[in-house]
Amino acid sequence: MFLGHFALAFGAKRLAPSVSLGTLFLACQFADLLWPTLVLIGLERVEIDPGNTLVTPLNFVSYPYSHSLVMLLVWAALFAIAYVAARGTSAVAAASIIAALVFSHYVLDVITHRPDMPITVGGATKIGFGLWNHPGTTLAVESAMFLACTALYTGATRARDAIGRVGLWALIVVLVAIYFAALYGPPPPSSHAIAVAGHLTWLFVIWASWIDKHRGARHLAPAPGTSR
Ligand SMILES: [Zn+2]
Repeated sequence: MFLGHFALAFGAKRLAPSVSLGTLFLACQFADLLWPTLVLIGLERVEIDPGNTLVTPLNFVSYPYSHSLVMLLVWAALFAIAYVAARGTSAVAAASIIAALVFSHYVLDVITHRPDMPITVGGATKIGFGLWNHPGTTLAVESAMFLACTALYTGATRARDAIGRVGLWALIVVLVAIYFAALYGPPPPSSHAIAVAGHLTWLFVIWASWIDKHRGARHLAPAPGTSR
């Protein structure tokens, strides 16, 4: 899943208005931000395998550190701890939403992937409901999530200036364009190329935090002691 992860981050802004959209992007996509680095250093493996599912030509051979149930619970807990350490105990509610977003990556990937999602780091049990073998349904589900959640985001925030307005729409257009390019484009040339290109996802985290500084809450003033 691609758009669906970002959708949850946009939607979460409604629940956690004090948290930067950049932090929400970092949380929802942490598994996919970690993964290309682990592939590059050889700790996790992916192969090009057109037809692996109808939607993706990738065979996720092994990715227990970035994509197992146990490790996503660990990463979620570490995110919550780090956020409370940085922002204080008044940020516990926001930290829980960030942790839920980190873990949501596992839930969404289990729904979409074939049974390649590990439970533990060393165990052989893998699960996946294989929505990716139903391209029409995948497209419908992800598009609906993305539309609904970006609408939540634009309902909860308003642009303070042109960057906040144009930057947001450009981000949305680029995310959608990448999604369709991956769906309908040729398979990537090599697993190395995927790992290198995967690091570009960091740009969306930076882009989202930049936009967030140029948008404010639409209805509510930020709670005292919180910052964006
Ligand atoms: Zn993933």
